[in-house]
Amino acid sequence: MNKKYAPVYIALGGNLSNPADTFLQALKALQNEGVRIRAVSHLWQSPAWPPGQGQPDYLNACAEVTFDGTAEELLVILQATETRFGRVRSERNAARTLDLDILDFKGEIRPGSDTALHLPHPRMRSRGFVLFPLQDIAPNWQDPVSKQNITEIIARLPFSDVEPMTRKGRLDLHLG
Ligand code: ADP
Ligand code: MG
Repeated sequence: MNKKYAPVYIALGGNLSNPADTFLQALKALQNEGVRIRAVSHLWQSPAWPPGQGQPDYLNACAEVTFDGTAEELLVILQATETRFGRVRSERNAARTLDLDILDFKGEIRPGSDTALHLPHPRMRSRGFVLFPLQDIAPNWQDPVSKQNITEIIARLPFSDVEPMTRKGRLDLHLG
């Protein structure tokens, strides 16, 4: 059977320890859990939000992956990986070693709630630090809800969200 290629996009973020090294190790760990990494964006640096809290800058990246299970099964793997790499869940927007979010799971739409999976990720449309890395690897990505193209979504971001975004190097990951 010739199934249509259905990519999944995952966001990586962190601002404690060495996020670039954590991302590399986390992606290798995901490869061992049946998550096939197809492409990885550049690293992008930006100040922590909300500003003025004295938190270290964030690094963010995005990966295109394929996965045979459900979105819920993938989220379980992502959360176990966050825990394995030292994330301690405390208050919202707290500094963290690793945040792994599902941005888009094969174009699926789920309404979500405070605890249930929400797809596409509800806050991705307003986050420059998610959209710029995604654009690196998916320049034609379309929001399955609004049908807007990523270029249009980025063009509507406030300048204050765009201006601090700094594109850095890439991770040295071997894509198998
Ligand atoms: P954030 O990523 O916004 O900083 P958290 O990582 O603490 O916040 O996630 C909060 C909750 O969001 C988690 O309990 C998770 O179950 C839920 N969630 C809902 N939709 C998604 C999604 N698409 N990707 C990741 N987590 C999600
Ligand atoms: Mg998260």
